[in-house]
Amino acid sequence: MSNESIYRLALTGVQQLIPYKAGKPIEELERELGLTQIIKLASNENPLGPGKKAVAAIQAALPELALYPDGSGFHLKQALASKYGLDASQITLGNGSNEILELVARVFLTPDLAVVFSQHAFAVYPLVTQAVGATAIVVPASHYGHDLQAMAQAITAHTRLVFIANPNNPTGTLLAQAELEAFIDALPDTVICVLDEAYFEFVQQTAAADSIAWLQKYPNLIITRTFSKVYGLAGLRVGYSLSSPEMADILNRVRQPFNNNSLALAAAHAALADDAHLQATITNNSQGMQQLTDGFKALSLEWIPSAGNFVAVDLKREGMPIYEALLQKGVIVRPVANYEMPNFLRISIGTPAENAVFLQALNDVLN
Ligand SMILES: *Cc1c(COP(=O)(O)O)cnc(C)c1O
Repeated sequence: MSNESIYRLALTGVQQLIPYKAGKPIEELERELGLTQIIKLASNENPLGPGKKAVAAIQAALPELALYPDGSGFHLKQALASKYGLDASQITLGNGSNEILELVARVFLTPDLAVVFSQHAFAVYPLVTQAVGATAIVVPASHYGHDLQAMAQAITAHTRLVFIANPNNPTGTLLAQAELEAFIDALPDTVICVLDEAYFEFVQQTAAADSIAWLQKYPNLIITRTFSKVYGLAGLRVGYSLSSPEMADILNRVRQPFNNNSLALAAAHAALADDAHLQATITNNSQGMQQLTDGFKALSLEWIPSAGNFVAVDLKREGMPIYEALLQKGVIVRPVANYEMPNFLRISIGTPAENAVFLQALNDVLN
């Protein structure tokens, strides 16, 4: 038996699966180029780092590392429940919100069922769909955003799940609150809606959908959020979903009992109370968005208006060579050809200094 023959034993979807391609790690580029001053604006991480309260909570939790973590995440769930006016039984904690997306696929999908999501939507949706052998129905986007009417029309008797990212990554597009609620309201009872709000905290408050209020009406709604983006804890892997208690019960049945480690639980709990860091992050983000888009304007480039902590810029030519040239200058951004956006690059908002270095490098590479 050859090593290769093992592939044939895997599920068909897994045989053809192309794994998620993460942003290039700083250390990897350092090794390749022998550079040190590298800037990474590639994974929508918080350029201000984790907050002081989160770091202090990790230090305080270190002596307990020999013990298993609290598998129920009691304190973190209590804090989230009180923040959102929900019951703790409505919360499911994940090892990043990515894990929640995977749990949903595992508990609701079979190879006979289909999943609806938008073109240019977050890359994890096709991955978790394919991994369980379900059929992906990719609905063409409208101006790079979700076309909810077309998505509603794409739903058939086989559809069990709809993924919506709001704001979407990598486009940054935001759906109007009323339109989104009308879409969820019209879903058949047999279709679960995952509303992925990884960038919720960056959305201007006036435009933010109060999606949590919808949970009372829609038992088929799952809202996912994360500590990876605004809270600056991507390395710790903490995300969660908000849903009906029954939905949470289903997800918790297949969740690994200790899926969040004790340092992550402690840090996330502390981060929730660190309003100063949250506000500083949001302020840095809106100023950085202005800085980057002013820079694009000066370079006569267009971009997709973004509600997140990143922006997709249209180079009007192939993005990959520009990405490579930026790497040579020690700047890591994100090519998005795998999102059917070959002429775009996605730039995460950095500190003012990082944004300036990126814009200078982009100017050098383009001219
Ligand atoms: C970053 C991101 C996530 C979540 O990442 P986790 O680190 O796993 O919480 C989820 N959805 C979208 C659209 C994202 O961009």
